[in-house]
Amino acid sequence: MNIAILPGDGIGPEIVTEAVKVLNALDLKFEMQTAPVGGAAYEAAGHPLPEATLNLAKAADAILFGAVGDWKYDTLERALRPEQAILGLRKALGLFANFRPAICYEQLTHASSLKPELVAGLDILIVRELTGDIYFGQPRGRRSAPDGAFAGSEEAFDTMRYTRPEIERIARVAFDAARQRGKRVTSVDKANVLETFQFWKDVVSDVHKDYPDVQLDHMYVDNAAMQLVKEPKKFDVIVTGNMFGDILSDEASMLTGSIGMLPSASLNEKKQGLYEPSHGSAPDIAGKGVANPLATILSAAMMLRFSLRQSEAADRIEAAVKTVLAQGLRTPDIWSAGTTRVGTTQMGDAVVNALR
Ligand code: NAD
Repeated sequence: MNIAILPGDGIGPEIVTEAVKVLNALDLKFEMQTAPVGGAAYEAAGHPLPEATLNLAKAADAILFGAVGDWKYDTLERALRPEQAILGLRKALGLFANFRPAICYEQLTHASSLKPELVAGLDILIVRELTGDIYFGQPRGRRSAPDGAFAGSEEAFDTMRYTRPEIERIARVAFDAARQRGKRVTSVDKANVLETFQFWKDVVSDVHKDYPDVQLDHMYVDNAAMQLVKEPKKFDVIVTGNMFGDILSDEASMLTGSIGMLPSASLNEKKQGLYEPSHGSAPDIAGKGVANPLATILSAAMMLRFSLRQSEAADRIEAAVKTVLAQGLRTPDIWSAGTTRVGTTQMGDAVVNALR
């Protein structure tokens, strides 16, 4: 089990240190190699995703990623900004399937911005297509408008497109995931307006014929955004395209209380994966020892389950996280009166103790 450790910037190194500590507390053998990425790599090698880091990632079974970015790089040309590292890794490794579970832990129910009864017991999974859609579609650019009421004016345009194989493979990922859970998939589209998403809906329905044991519904994205705050527990697995998934998964993250709790996994066809917390590098709290490491620790659990076929170890880590929450231990982002405030390292240590 060969893991590339890419801590990155800001709180990245602090939270990844805790996840590595938890992995090392399991009775499993890992080969771990660390490399700089993002702003740290720009400082060390002049590029956010140096060749050596990319090669290490390509050769690994799985990548544990912290976070990249810092405001001080905002003036750099786009290709050199830290965030390009994550886009480059997704593209180079073909990481087309993004899993974002949104789980509301019992002890954190009150931390959600929704009423506790709406989120208590919430456990949904958003499966987002990650390498297609309007984010990558060509052509794109700026030009003089060739036609229309404003012909000759300056305009910008992007292209929304999906091929059948791209939709088929993400639909299969979602149906397979649903089989391990509540056996329900909601495919989110905008088929009433967009040709691309009428096609999406048709292809998902075709793939569904191979999964008669899984229930499939279709929902327009505007309705899905509303239902997520109205009645989030009615979802099991949501599958959608890159742009809608980007927006809906952030919306879902807030249902659970803190972004510091949310793991994610991005997988390719070979089940090689990049595992990272859903949050960024949080430069505002970097170096203060207060970042919540649980999203990264839970990402390590997803890594064990999806890429390293160690689901028992994954279950143990998830149970340990529940134990520390039940013990009342909280980093400041999830702290409330009556609970015990701890720092990043203490939280990691507590998970290790709970594992043992
Ligand atoms: P952010 O997620 O870094 O922070 C948003 C807020 O949440 C901040 O107040 C932060 O302190 C808090 N927060 C985030 N993670 C936390 C944790 N584990 N524990 C406690 N509090 C936490 O988002 P931002 O401030 O918009 O972006 C900061 C930088 O991160 C930017 O450079 C951005 O581009 C980058 N970013 C990177 C990734 C990635 O690496 N995949 C994702 C999103 C943003």
